[in-house]
Amino acid sequence: MKVSLRVQELAESATLAVASKTAALKASGIDVVGFGAGEPDFDTPEHIKAAATDALAHGLTKYPKPPSGLPETKEAIRLKFKRENGLDYGASEVMVTSGCKMACYLALQALLDPGDEVIIPVPYWVSFPEMAKLAGGVPVPIDSSDGQGFRFPADRIAAAVTPRTRLMILNTPNNPGGFVYSEADLRAAADIARKHDLAVLADETYDRLLFGGRSHVSFASLSDDAYQRTVTVNSGSKTYAMPGWRIGYAAGPQPVIAAMAKLQSQTTSGVAPFTQLALARALVADQECVEFMRREFESRGQHLARRLNELPGVHCSEPEGAFYTFPNVAGTYASLGVDGSVAFAERLLSEAKVSVTPGIAFGCDDHVRMSFATSMKQIDIGLDRMAAWLAPVQSPA
Ligand code: GLU
Repeated sequence: MKVSLRVQELAESATLAVASKTAALKASGIDVVGFGAGEPDFDTPEHIKAAATDALAHGLTKYPKPPSGLPETKEAIRLKFKRENGLDYGASEVMVTSGCKMACYLALQALLDPGDEVIIPVPYWVSFPEMAKLAGGVPVPIDSSDGQGFRFPADRIAAAVTPRTRLMILNTPNNPGGFVYSEADLRAAADIARKHDLAVLADETYDRLLFGGRSHVSFASLSDDAYQRTVTVNSGSKTYAMPGWRIGYAAGPQPVIAAMAKLQSQTTSGVAPFTQLALARALVADQECVEFMRREFESRGQHLARRLNELPGVHCSEPEGAFYTFPNVAGTYASLGVDGSVAFAERLLSEAKVSVTPGIAFGCDDHVRMSFATSMKQIDIGLDRMAAWLAPVQSPA
């Protein structure tokens, strides 16, 4: 049977493909060290699981009502935005979604018309361009590299805006780059958005995972104008180690959230009530578990970046947030005889049993993404294997 052109043109999620392939290899008895998946290795904290089992014991097994989210979960989300992000939303300006991914998808579906251009800084999270296309939009990737690393490409974005530009996606702390936009960067983005009347999708999934004493600035908190034009999305997956629960949330102007909720009522019907009560508990309970995981991620990230920089032909910035390093490995390509990040990742997996996500999936073929949501021991085993595998590489001058 023929599938739609829309889906024929859709790329599969590379992050999930790598994670699934790694899991399948492990299940078949192959000892792979996985740096692919962007999912915490920690289990969901017990008090959060207990909220779900309590809810199940009390028979919360019916449809979520309303589909946009249970009142108590919305209230917990409102409190989180107020407490941590300086953002004051009403109950009708927040909603609960099936992971942050669905929040992004619904926001783009609610905001884009066919032909609308979407500014997406590169590197970008793998699903942004595909989701923009599914909503009829035209992704406009904007290179963020400055020769050293990545920074917010304000001038390039301003130059790329056309009368068709409708929306800009901002993701900080960044997946896959591990970098964080400064407040000055965000203010430059806010100026562009105001000047050209753009909507903004602010993906702040990693807002609690910051390193080196950095603190998070929410884009929508910069000004009334930024607040009025932004949909902010976040999730339980990273902050509370809940990726498999598929729960995220969004906040923004009431008409946009209402449009997203209408879409949700015709598609998933919302998020399982017992999952919603687990997120509500996570958001209002003591936050020590978050700090514990953040500290762990910080030391792993520093260690991984240090070891990557010891490899020939590899350059890696120290991560500032999230749980990814995004090393530039192009210096190995000539010695290895590979033509880009896909071939690099394939050879690394088949020859050294280490899985990484090819940077091309994030718009950067000179890089690979390595998640450090895995134990220090696994990081060291993986890096030992990479060091042995890359030993014959001549460091380029
Ligand atoms: N966001 C995570 C990642 O980038 C989870 C997988 C996905 O949905 O892309 O690896």
